[in-house]
Amino acid sequence: MNTSQSQYIFFRAQKVIPGGVNSPVRAFSAVGGTPVVIARGEGCHVWDVDGNAYLDYIGSWGPLILGHAHPDIIAAICTTAQLGTSFGALTEREVELADILCSAVPSLEMVRLVNSGTEAVMSAIRLARAATGRNLVIKFDGGYHGHSDGLLVKAGSGIATLGIANSAGIPAEIAAYTISVPFNDLAALRRVLDEHGNDIACLIGEPVPANMGVVLPEANYWETVRDALHAVGALFIFDEVITGFRLGWEGGQGWTGVTPDLCTLGKIIGGGLPVGAYGGRRELMELIAPCGPVYQAGTLSGNPLAVAAGLAALRLLQQQAPYEELQRRTLRLAEGVGHSAHAAHIPVTINTVGSLLTIFFTGVAVTDYASALTADTRRFATFFHACLRRGLILPPSQFEALFVATAHTDADIEDTITIIGEAMREVAAC
Ligand code: PLP
Repeated sequence: MNTSQSQYIFFRAQKVIPGGVNSPVRAFSAVGGTPVVIARGEGCHVWDVDGNAYLDYIGSWGPLILGHAHPDIIAAICTTAQLGTSFGALTEREVELADILCSAVPSLEMVRLVNSGTEAVMSAIRLARAATGRNLVIKFDGGYHGHSDGLLVKAGSGIATLGIANSAGIPAEIAAYTISVPFNDLAALRRVLDEHGNDIACLIGEPVPANMGVVLPEANYWETVRDALHAVGALFIFDEVITGFRLGWEGGQGWTGVTPDLCTLGKIIGGGLPVGAYGGRRELMELIAPCGPVYQAGTLSGNPLAVAAGLAALRLLQQQAPYEELQRRTLRLAEGVGHSAHAAHIPVTINTVGSLLTIFFTGVAVTDYASALTADTRRFATFFHACLRRGLILPPSQFEALFVATAHTDADIEDTITIIGEAMREVAAC
């Protein structure tokens, strides 16, 4: 495979962009080698600058549930752009998007649009602190909620990938406001609530964590967590930046049957453009300026192009109701991967929910961050490159999810399984 143009561009990039990338995991640090530089995407494929085609399961890390360059989304962006790209004033489409979000997501009575998932989480936590008059925040080991200071404590995703415990540059006093507990461990949570209950503002977690790889909650876990939080007067936040509109039209709230006090959204609701959102009950959201004393603002918040792309994506999802089909294909992929790993005598644990899937290179059940970390990351790196050379691009880290899109047909899934079968044999030979 010729990747000379990618190598040349990455060489230039490293001179002017830290690590050559604008988000760390893109640099292939966890798997080695030079990242391919992408020129374009269509459906479930991307092409690099050397003209190599890849079946894509990065899906822009979640937003592209409908695949790359969906014609309706591109048309919505182009039509809207002709009317102007930003006004810094209310537009009708923002109200339409907020209406759809509030009608779909059980916990939302009101919602505020921002520009990223990080911003959404930052703002939701500020609101939870203001509403409770308390400062401490609980998160889970291996949980990733964007790169705001207080949440880079024992975080997953890129932080896990790079093996960084906690980011430098965060004052110890700020990190001390965050308490991290193991996922699926009610006893550990109860100990924290017993000790600090009156000081806890909120707990934040993904309905199904996907940033330490996919990890499923135990039965009734979230009901118990919610009740324990409410018993001490703390708020419960679901971070639905990945799960929102991915695990179903009602996102993780539909999937778990649990309604949080606040939730955050991002990724899919922007149709591939930068958007985030946070929201909840009216009495909480009316604490936000200009109604109340919690300040939060943004020059480009509710940007017309991002809102138009998000609206187009959500309307397609509403019309197509693709969730059962996505799950069926993802389960078939999991089955095929399982067979090929077994045939190659490679121990793997495959966790899947909806259209998310992680292949952990470990023989143990993965139920929390500690068990995720038993995965053999060197094996994953060999597997990743064996796939890439065969025209299959996966998220370049063991601790991420593959994102299946409506654009992946049954035939694409079978092609993926074939490639993964060859890659597993290559791993076995190493
Ligand atoms: N929350 C979760 C669950 C995420 O997965 C991410 C990003 O991957 C974020 C928050 C941060 O979102 P963004 O990258 O848009 O800032």
